[in-house]
Amino acid sequence: MRIVCASANPHKVEELARMLPSWVDLVARPSDIGDIDEDAPTLEGNAIIKAVEIANHASEWAIADDTGLEVAALNGEPGVRSARFAGEQATDAENRALLLAKLDGVTNRSARFRTVVALVSSKGDIHFVGGECAGTIAELESGAGGFGYDSLFIPADGDGRTFAEMTGPEKDAVSHRGRALAQIPDLLARIFGLPTP
Ligand code: IMP
Repeated sequence: MRIVCASANPHKVEELARMLPSWVDLVARPSDIGDIDEDAPTLEGNAIIKAVEIANHASEWAIADDTGLEVAALNGEPGVRSARFAGEQATDAENRALLLAKLDGVTNRSARFRTVVALVSSKGDIHFVGGECAGTIAELESGAGGFGYDSLFIPADGDGRTFAEMTGPEKDAVSHRGRALAQIPDLLARIFGLPTP
């Protein structure tokens, strides 16, 4: 089965390709599609915007994820604005620096990642899976792997290392995206009326 990937982020594409079932042929996002405005107020809304745009453009199934980091001491921020936390064009490093600055001296460092994955057909059928990962925000960055906030996030179901200190498969086993994508085989079986894998 072919599914077009709505993400242009090479780290996300790598994670999706690693975790989707081997019988899914993950097709790269068409190069002639420009930036898609992710201006919905929810992760679900943004995942739909991205997947619908790509499914319409490619006339094929498309998959998109939208992810937010929700920090308890910041009342759930940055949440849906995680990519733009430090400004519209903010880099990952700028977003991490702002997060550390806002949590300077704060003892409650609880946070969670939340991911919503939308799977959309060219006919407009929309399906969702979601995943969460609870953890804490470190005092300092650690690790060279991963992307985004990975070097600051210590998952509760880990051994004290940040996501950026883990191998890809170690992150996948406990991550928000891993937990969402683990539901994809069952979802596809339900959509196509196949026996549950
Ligand atoms: P988006 O889903 O691409 O909009 O991502 C929102 C923000 O969360 C961006 O700043 C990403 O870099 C960050 N992000 C998304 N997924 C992850 C992850 O698995 N680990 C760390 N940061 C992430």
